[in-house]
Amino acid sequence: MAEINLPRVVVLGGGIGGQVAATRLKQKLRTDARVTLVERSATFTFAPSLLWLMVGKRQPRTITRDYSGFLKRGVEVAHVSVTGIDTAASEVQTESGPIGYDYLVVALGASLDPGRIPGLAEHTFHPYDLPSAERLRDALAAFRGGKVVVAIASMPYKCPAAPYETAMLIDGFLRDRGLRESSQIEMYTPEPLPLPVAGPFAGHSVAAELASRGIGFHPRATLEAVQPGSVQFTGESAPFDLAVVIPPHRPPEVIANSGLAGPGGWIPVDRSTLRTRASNVYAIGDNTAIPLENGLLLPKAGVFAHGEAEVVAENITRRIRGDLLEAAFDGHGTCFLETGGGKSGLARGDFFASPVPTVAMHRPGRAWHAAKIAFEQYWLRRWL
Ligand SMILES: Cc1cc2nc3c(=O)[nH]c(=O)nc-3n(C[C@H](O)[C@H](O)[C@H](O)COP(=O)(O)OP(=O)(O)OC[C@H]3O[C@@H](n4cnc5c(N)ncnc54)[C@H](O)[C@@H]3O)c2cc1C
Repeated sequence: MAEINLPRVVVLGGGIGGQVAATRLKQKLRTDARVTLVERSATFTFAPSLLWLMVGKRQPRTITRDYSGFLKRGVEVAHVSVTGIDTAASEVQTESGPIGYDYLVVALGASLDPGRIPGLAEHTFHPYDLPSAERLRDALAAFRGGKVVVAIASMPYKCPAAPYETAMLIDGFLRDRGLRESSQIEMYTPEPLPLPVAGPFAGHSVAAELASRGIGFHPRATLEAVQPGSVQFTGESAPFDLAVVIPPHRPPEVIANSGLAGPGGWIPVDRSTLRTRASNVYAIGDNTAIPLENGLLLPKAGVFAHGEAEVVAENITRRIRGDLLEAAFDGHGTCFLETGGGKSGLARGDFFASPVPTVAMHRPGRAWHAAKIAFEQYWLRRWL
């Protein structure tokens, strides 16, 4: 009965941000609050590893975990779909009934929307979720050489580096199989340069990596439609034997309908505290939109979802304990960039720097690749 009077913190979404938020909240608040994680899926797959799975270097079971570790930590886990957020009533609607909250953390991620582009779902592959990455792995295994198109359908998308890593890992895969000489890889993006948010130095570095592998780079390409054997961009069509297209992303529907959403359907937040416009409601990770000084948005990346979750867990704890001082998210982030051939580069920077983010690029090497593997293992052991 005592539990009924405890403050209840509800975390929506058990991805990267939600996992960190729920774990840290329970660690900090212990028996002083109920922490509930609401996640529709029974299992979680570590997204960065999908790129290795695509080229046959991971099995689904080695990068997928269930949520039993959260129960052991004392986090209540509800495997249900969230269908609505009623901030006036401090209540979340789910397919199994309402869940009331005193504090809410919204971490529902970004949804993929392949249906927005005619022909995309029917004729192309992508590595952005587990079933799709498995289909792409099978298509690559059956590929005997020819024209490969790697494209980004639209902005924004998760992980600025991932499509470029995809192109370079496919390059390495074809080299290993003796198929690179008989193949052509062309990369298309609506961006003016790779990783535009990280500035021209980072962009030119990645473009140089593509060029050194003989991967054609086509910036400012607007994808209109896909037909069998041909991707249609405005003013140009790209023939293919295999097309890998990162699908359009959209905000989860439940957010678009919640009153938390801003222009474009993403959630505007205070970039330091991650507070939304609703009282006691915070949002972190891919479902937020955080404008930067350079006019672009903070990238949708796990590293930021993680950092934001730490800050929100700390601030909710402080508020429950009556401490009015708030911790601040500082916009720092680090990201590995897998380049194939057992090497990775690293981008590290301050994305809240003014007037533009300051990002350092470390050249690809075996040590960063080893660090990326260590990070994967750390994540799967530490947080799940
Ligand atoms: C191929 C690939 C490679 C990547 N590589 C990197 C990398 O190297 N570094 C990096 O920093 N980032 C990387 N990312 C990006 C990173 O995975 C995301 O930015 C990160 O997962 C965002 O965390 P999040 O908590 O905001 O959302 P997510 O991790 O997507 O979690 C959202 C959760 O909400 C759940 N959910 C959604 N709607 C509902 C609902 N209605 N009801 C209940 N549950 C719901 C989902 O099932 C999901 O578990 C990569 C992404 C991809 C696809």
